[in-house]
Amino acid sequence: MAIDNSSYNAIMREYENIRANNRAAQVRRIEEVYEKIPKMKELNSSTGSLAVSRYKESLKSGGFSSINLKKDIDDIKKRKEILLKEAGFPVDYMEMEYDCNDCKDTGYIEGKKCHCLQAKIRKLLYAQSNLEHIVSKENFDNFSFKYYDDKYLLPSQNITNAKYMDGVKKFCEAFTDKYFNADRTKNEVFSNKQGENDRRSIVFSGSTGVGKTYLSNCIAKVLLDRYYSVIYLSAKELFETLVKVNIEKSEEQKYLLLVKEVYECDMLIIDDLGSELFNHFTTSEFFHIINRRINTEKSTIISTNLSLDKMRDTYSERVTSRIRKSFIYIRLYGNDIRARL
Ligand SMILES: [Zn+2]
Repeated sequence: MAIDNSSYNAIMREYENIRANNRAAQVRRIEEVYEKIPKMKELNSSTGSLAVSRYKESLKSGGFSSINLKKDIDDIKKRKEILLKEAGFPVDYMEMEYDCNDCKDTGYIEGKKCHCLQAKIRKLLYAQSNLEHIVSKENFDNFSFKYYDDKYLLPSQNITNAKYMDGVKKFCEAFTDKYFNADRTKNEVFSNKQGENDRRSIVFSGSTGVGKTYLSNCIAKVLLDRYYSVIYLSAKELFETLVKVNIEKSEEQKYLLLVKEVYECDMLIIDDLGSELFNHFTTSEFFHIINRRINTEKSTIISTNLSLDKMRDTYSERVTSRIRKSFIYIRLYGNDIRARL
């Protein structure tokens, strides 16, 4: 599952609380009715005793009539409804109420996750992604080519930048469909298995404002909507978190959890690699993260204004050679699109 056990258990406890609260509310309503309509208590208990007495009768007579029992129960039900109406209560006032009528606040319908449980999981994934608000604006549906030039040919590509970006967008959509299957949203979401040569990670490279972060957000939204866990961190935040845990030995839960997610989430997005302060610690940690995620077949998106050669000079040959082998490298061009927004 894309969420960890403790998060799942927290959601299940939420359901328990909902059920307990609804039961308590039902008890309060029934007591209110009893106070106003004393006869109701008698009628309510008679439904149960009726079944018992019918059963006893059947033992004596040797024939049990469920038709008669049903008729009697229906009669009592009707009398109760009339009494409730007369006293000004809705007819279902004493019934149990559910937040979700489909799964009766259990989270499951015939062993499958109810839409309400799926929504809770998705909300949690969104909240922990650090992308909760941005992806409602930055997504494939809102992607616009108007920020990309459609007159001049890109020297290296022989097509306009707008045309080139159209290809990039289509590629990214196909990428998400290939590795983050929509069919798996229905029930359990477990990690993908794949062949050794698959490249399930991306480097977006280019100068500031060409759409690197925007494209990562587009992919992130699709994944989150398909119940995959996504963690977005700027390189600066990522390394600061690692310093907190590894060097300062911080035991703050938020840092510990984040480091765990950095290794384990379905998609890690490292934004603006190259903007952080470099030192021996960051370069070796960067290698460990990339290496472990590749070995465990997890996807990563790196956005950077560094070229691969520059990345090799900044980090190390061993990390760039891992990236060259396992990442799809996408160069983005163009004027600063943010300047034109
Ligand atoms: Zn439900």
